Amino acid sequence: MDTILVINAGSSSLKFELFASVGVLRRLVKGKMDGIGTAPHLAIKSAGGDRLADETYPHETVPDLPAAMRLVGQWLRERHEGEMVAVGHRVVHGGPDHTHPVRVDQNILRELEGFTPLAPLHQPNNLAPIRALLEHQPHLAQIACFDTAFHRGHDPMTDHYAIPAHYFAEGVRRYGFHGLSYEYVAGRLAEIAPDIGRGRVIVAHLGSGASLCALKDGKSIESTFGFTALDGLPMGTRCGQIDPGVLLYLLQGGMTAAELQDLLYKESGLKGLSGISNDVRDLLASEAPGAALALDHFVHRIGLNAGALAAALGGLDAFVFTAGVGENSPVMRERISRKLAWLGATLDPARNAAGELLISTDQSKVALYCVPTDEELMIARHTFALLAP
Ligand code: ADP
Repeated sequence: MDTILVINAGSSSLKFELFASVGVLRRLVKGKMDGIGTAPHLAIKSAGGDRLADETYPHETVPDLPAAMRLVGQWLRERHEGEMVAVGHRVVHGGPDHTHPVRVDQNILRELEGFTPLAPLHQPNNLAPIRALLEHQPHLAQIACFDTAFHRGHDPMTDHYAIPAHYFAEGVRRYGFHGLSYEYVAGRLAEIAPDIGRGRVIVAHLGSGASLCALKDGKSIESTFGFTALDGLPMGTRCGQIDPGVLLYLLQGGMTAAELQDLLYKESGLKGLSGISNDVRDLLASEAPGAALALDHFVHRIGLNAGALAAALGGLDAFVFTAGVGENSPVMRERISRKLAWLGATLDPARNAAGELLISTDQSKVALYCVPTDEELMIARHTFALLAP
């Protein structure tokens, strides 16, 4: 049996899924190694949800991503016969030119390494497993699937910053991220409600990273993310949109670039505002004023940005919630939906509480949906498609 491995490598975790790729794609296992380098823990489940592994390791056994890859590879070889014909990787940054996934060789890898300054916390981790596999299994097909690719069809005018135009050619432009999630949701919407899928839609990917994407006829025309995954909405620990004057103020006050990077990526967003947690669940459960401030600000910024994207679309037919917060929190969906009332959106409380796909009333002028995303399946599909003769 031919299989495709999907890898989503982060700073301290390695998510992976194995798909059988015989004729159609079928998910076999889903796993995650977290606490890499500190308290490594491997959890693997079957597609049906049965627990297949639940192991902890001494930190020196799994000090880094390549070590985690080796361990996961060993588990897969022992437990799964069949031949792994390709590995699909989530890569956050594909730069200005990659409009589609690509098979990675040493030249492409070098090109992708060049985008590291644009995604300093994500890109090195995304590329580490690719590098390790290229070294040890040079003939294994590896496909890089980019979070930026889905947004490459934007009108270039929209992706400019209003700084001297030559910076655009140098690559200082708005890229947009979460593209694999948006591509998957756009595809689902085309199945669930084809007319709406051809219309003007905002998708809200609200997880530990958060952004909105404006879809027209299933294609991205705008997004709240920009040059890096710091822009747009406030996130778990990232600041979102900020006046560049604040950055000048901090730098001129003596902060180093490295300290500023840490502040903006790791200490800001819901965590920075609340002083409590980056996790919406903790904030919802807390009585502390900081928790209320952080959540109010998050909802406020989503409302403002939804207005901006509705303007880009020239109106709105549907608003779709997805990712950790969007899929799991009826309370947050309700709070955000209230910000969309002026556009004509009316939530149906019972449908929302039940987490149905359509959560607006039948009379609502703007349809509201809750659509679980599946970035891993999207990566598997791309990888499968690129392998086809
Ligand atoms: P990522 O893949 O970006 O790490 P997810 O899309 O899995 O993130 O989202 C993770 C976030 O989703 C958590 O940090 C948490 O804030 C939020 N989340 C998950 N479940 C719930 C829930 N039941 N209620 C509110 N927020 C939730």
